Amino acid sequence: MFHNARIKLTAWYLLIIMLISIFFSMVIYRVLDAELERFARAQRFRIERRFSQFPPIPNIDPELIKEAEQRLIISLIIVNISILLISGATGYFLAGKTLRPIQEMVDEQNRFISDASHEFRTPLTSLKTSMEVALRDKQFSLPNAKTLISESIEEVNRLQTLSEHLLQLAQFQKPNNNAILETVSLGEIVNKSIGKVMPMAKQKQITIINKTKDYELQGNKYGLIDLIVILLDNAIKYSNKKSSIEILSQKTAKAVSISIHDKGIGINEKDIPHIFDRFYRADSARSKHHVSGYGLGLSIAKKIAEIHHGSISVKSTIDKGSTFIVKLPFS
Ligand code: ADP
Repeated sequence: MFHNARIKLTAWYLLIIMLISIFFSMVIYRVLDAELERFARAQRFRIERRFSQFPPIPNIDPELIKEAEQRLIISLIIVNISILLISGATGYFLAGKTLRPIQEMVDEQNRFISDASHEFRTPLTSLKTSMEVALRDKQFSLPNAKTLISESIEEVNRLQTLSEHLLQLAQFQKPNNNAILETVSLGEIVNKSIGKVMPMAKQKQITIINKTKDYELQGNKYGLIDLIVILLDNAIKYSNKKSSIEILSQKTAKAVSISIHDKGIGINEKDIPHIFDRFYRADSARSKHHVSGYGLGLSIAKKIAEIHHGSISVKSTIDKGSTFIVKLPFS
């Protein structure tokens, strides 16, 4: 598909360039031809004036003019063929360069759709199977039905979270995402984010210590709240009961850094380069500690940081804890 589009784009480039080139060649031919005849007439006139005592000289040999015209035509044809070849090669190269970002975007979207449908397929299949089994079971009692319904609701809730995360990711993934950036207060963003995760922290008796200062920065309020909530949510999820989480802020001339430090399970060194990838979950989270999740949070957080021209990084030691650092530039 992209190869055809590249060829078509090259053909359009060539058509435009060749139309311009042929038009100018015709103009050049006409001008030079007229100049040639004017020069021949002027030359004859000058000779006749100087040697007026002699009989008039004959016209310049028309064969000579024809030969000059032919040479001009050949030169113009050579120039046009060279332009055709050079612009053909350059056009093909430029068409490839123009189409590459579009191709990458389409590939990325296809990957996204196939990853997302894969994530949906497994829980939907197991939901369907357990319901079919229950339907076939002749001794299926009311208490059994209640257990099945509550398990199914839990699964549906998880699927709902997954679809919300996917929508969020798709929204932040749009190319040239022009999220409205306004002056926002870091203090307000952190307080609102803590408020959102508080019920979960209370459930695990985790203390959140907020040591951030109230700086003003340019950002998208709701995007930044989502970003901090994702990091706090992970810090709570991957910490043991009765643990504590610290949020700190630091300001330099160019940027504000927000660090979220937990004393949780930590991340293996080999997983660190991948945790910001879509659907990536470290083994420690998945199999060892059985923490639920889809591996989407950090990829959303990374996209939000990028929209703000910022960055997100992590330092972690297994069984000691992790620190996620978000850097947001002022401009
Ligand atoms: P999810 O938490 O839903 O699995 P994320 O994208 O938020 O997805 O995180 C990706 C992975 O990074 C997690 O599965 C986990 O292995 C690791 N991770 C993220 N935050 C922490 C943390 N604070 N402590 C330990 N591991 C973490």
